[in-house]
Amino acid sequence: MPLSLLKYGLSRDYPVTGDIPATPDLKRSYDVVIVGGGGHGLACAHYLAKYHGVTDVAVLEKGYLAGGNTARNTTTIRSNYITPEGIAFYKEGVKLYGEMSGELDFNVMFSQRGQLTLAHTEATLRSFHLRAEMGRHMGTRLEVVDQKGVEALCPRLNMDYGGPLEVLGGLWHADGGTARHDAVAWGYAREASRRGVEIHQRTTVEAIDVEKGRVTGVVTDRGRVAAGAVMIACGGANYEVAKLAGVELPIRCYPLQAMVTQPLKPWLDTLVSSVSLHTYLVQSSRGELVIGGGSDPYMSYSTRSTLEMKEHLAEGAVHLFPFLKGVRVLRQWAGTTDMTPDYSPIMGASPVDGLWLDCGWGTWGFKATPVAGKRMAETIAAGKVPDILAPFALDRFERFAVLNEMGATAASH
Ligand SMILES: Cc1cc2nc3c(=O)[nH]c(=O)nc-3n(C[C@H](O)[C@H](O)[C@H](O)COP(=O)(O)OP(=O)(O)OC[C@H]3O[C@@H](n4cnc5c(N)ncnc54)[C@H](O)[C@@H]3O)c2cc1C
Repeated sequence: MPLSLLKYGLSRDYPVTGDIPATPDLKRSYDVVIVGGGGHGLACAHYLAKYHGVTDVAVLEKGYLAGGNTARNTTTIRSNYITPEGIAFYKEGVKLYGEMSGELDFNVMFSQRGQLTLAHTEATLRSFHLRAEMGRHMGTRLEVVDQKGVEALCPRLNMDYGGPLEVLGGLWHADGGTARHDAVAWGYAREASRRGVEIHQRTTVEAIDVEKGRVTGVVTDRGRVAAGAVMIACGGANYEVAKLAGVELPIRCYPLQAMVTQPLKPWLDTLVSSVSLHTYLVQSSRGELVIGGGSDPYMSYSTRSTLEMKEHLAEGAVHLFPFLKGVRVLRQWAGTTDMTPDYSPIMGASPVDGLWLDCGWGTWGFKATPVAGKRMAETIAAGKVPDILAPFALDRFERFAVLNEMGATAASH
């Protein structure tokens, strides 16, 4: 096997096909500069090029492609939010995930296996009824299931009958799913670069030029670049990068951790999340159990993972599925999440003309990658925010028009 692999690798019959051209020289100016080569920046570049004919675009990424939160997330995709604005937006995101492999001619391994959120208290169950009503009203597949329903959906689950964490019911979201995060980013990058978008890795934006209230370009560690429009999509660095243009975002950063176990035979065919245990699990296509929970309780830019969180996640996972005791943890990691006060993103205009925001994605932005990319591209191309994005404007915090999604975010992301 290793020998045939080597022969295959060295054979002229199978030349290396570089999907992303090597980083070119930076031009002096572009129509659009996107700061941040994560899923959001790359998706926006793709939609700009493919649907709006805007190809004079540079994506500037300080590290390697999608090495920020896109690489660190646990890939929950869902639309079971609370506010009508949030549900409408994320519902479009789930739909676009369903079409993504065809759109990008790249298998992003979207698996719509449904998400089950567990209620261990009557109060949680009541809140699930509210969410199910809202969701159904907005056309998502969302229902409250009783104990028998939970057992049918997840037969190996510890129901803890009579115990302090008895599962009283669940919120079943048949639209929920998961996809391969690096495939999403690479698919968008490949399609964007095929249409002429330049992707510049290892290129840090250090300053943003603003003249008479309008953005005119950026300064990078490879030189100054003029731009007609600039979009900020920098994940955990959004606050700092917006500050370069004098824009102060209502964002505070918290670490968010996750871990994976050794691979197991496929046995878990839904996403499972427990509000009370602050733990969720999904089995990856490789068989690893991806386990996540809530954010760390303190603000920090640290991406170190902690023993406390590992113990917490292991405890939650073993409580839900006691047979996991003894399964080994392979990796643990953390990302920096840019949290807004209402747990909703900030998209659209900034106080600086021509400077667009795709920020505040906290712990929930992977699922929004295609819809944010598509709608931000529309915004930049038209110079106008479409109705679906209008509620997420930065000035909602001044108008007290917040979109409170805290209850729908919790440990589910
Ligand atoms: C542990 C964890 C689990 C998560 N789980 C989920 C989940 O299950 N579902 C979900 O929907 N979301 C989840 N999220 C959130 C999700 O990962 C993010 O919201 C999403 O990836 C944001 O994508 P992005 O492209 O905006 O940011 P990123 O992927 O972080 O990309 C931003 C890029 O900007 C670059 N950058 C920063 N500063 C500069 C600069 N000055 N110049 C140039 N480039 C710069 C960074 O290097 C980075 O690559 C999770 C996050 C974490 C950390």
